[in-house]
Amino acid sequence: LATIPADAETVRRLDRAHVFHSWSAQALIDPLPIASAQGSYFTDYHGRRYLDFAAQLVNVNLGHQHPKLVAAIQEYATRMTTIQPAFANDARSEAARLICEVAPGDLNRVFFTNGGAEANENAIRLAKLHTGRHKVFAAYRSYHGATAGSLTLTGDPRRWGVEPGIAGVVRYWGPYLYRSAFHATTAEQECERALRHLRDLLMVEGAHTVAAMVLETVVGTNGVLVPPHGYLQGVRELCDEFGIVMVADEVMAGFGRCGEWFAVDRWDVTPDLITFAKGVNSGYIPLGGVLINDAINETFQRRVYPGGLTYSGHPLACASAVASINIFYDEGVIEHARWLGTDVIGPGLAELADRHPSVGEVRGMGVFWAVELVRDRDTREPLVPYNATGADAQPMNEFATACKQRGLWPMTHFNRTHVVPPCTASEQEIREGLAILDDALDVADRYYRA
Ligand code: PLP
Repeated sequence: LATIPADAETVRRLDRAHVFHSWSAQALIDPLPIASAQGSYFTDYHGRRYLDFAAQLVNVNLGHQHPKLVAAIQEYATRMTTIQPAFANDARSEAARLICEVAPGDLNRVFFTNGGAEANENAIRLAKLHTGRHKVFAAYRSYHGATAGSLTLTGDPRRWGVEPGIAGVVRYWGPYLYRSAFHATTAEQECERALRHLRDLLMVEGAHTVAAMVLETVVGTNGVLVPPHGYLQGVRELCDEFGIVMVADEVMAGFGRCGEWFAVDRWDVTPDLITFAKGVNSGYIPLGGVLINDAINETFQRRVYPGGLTYSGHPLACASAVASINIFYDEGVIEHARWLGTDVIGPGLAELADRHPSVGEVRGMGVFWAVELVRDRDTREPLVPYNATGADAQPMNEFATACKQRGLWPMTHFNRTHVVPPCTASEQEIREGLAILDDALDVADRYYRA
């Protein structure tokens, strides 16, 4: 557009002068201006191309600039760009129908939001009003968004800056065998003890005061923690026993990331509410929402739901979701993501673990993988401490720089790098990325038992 200055220096200068960035000390950052993006890559103004092994913030599931998705947005925009939520709208109706079609069980209604945090806010509001209870259980090592309630639910350091947050959040440990909070040595033990811990907490908190049990089906940013078989089923049974609403946050795990429409499909569990965003339309336009089951929907048939957003079910965002879900169907994206996990990424990362002593564990499914880096495989001492900043974070910064110098944009968090490319990445692109990781891991190996 002629009215947007687009040379790298102006972009950077205006950014530094006027843009206030997320999660940052403003003077300590220098955001890289990006000129364009295509498929699994994006490119800076100097023509340096990066393989996007982060899919931006693990949301560009269909890759950059998918032509059918771009066309659908353009086409809908020429007809109608917006209409407020109280009207019925064709794109919104069809998006809701399609999302319910791919959701499990009786999740037959959608409340649309602009993103994941608002989806989780509304999920706990629905649960509290439905049950008439006020407490919400949320896990350590989790991320649920950056609004007041969602950040209080968050079980990582990002909530520290806004504590005490909202009232009534009770925190529990989820399963994570590699660093078990339960001193477990097998997946079965971890599962059994994690469920016992939840039951004990419900006893001492008073299960009748608990409205919702919130969890990430597969924990995302905090480590791609895949639950052991039986865990989600166990949570489902506890929720049923005590009349608690089970809320699965699938903002990151849903829409192909795990090689399933929703990660819960892998374990055949139906939550009462599912929150989604990111992959639903690859973030081409902001969109999120809450999938609501019949019982909770019933609560609000004659009773007003106290919540809404100017952009709830934004037509342009919904039109992009319709196009996105049709692309998933037409191009077999779910199956492709699953295959990449079982046949390409999983075996590829296992080879890296064989070659690099600093790789303590690799785990994941679909296009959702974590490589956990350690200084010692026996003690499992992490390459950098939990919440490392400044000098402490140096080894991971060096690793990330090594990736970027070789043309790969990694996703890193504490002592892990995650392999989370678009679900549409080709086998060749994945192999190109794994080869770069192979080189860059030499940097981490230098700290091994050093
Ligand atoms: N829930 C999970 C599991 C997430 O990974 C995220 C974002 O990373 C969110 C919620 C928050 O979503 P948003 O940033 O769209 O508000």
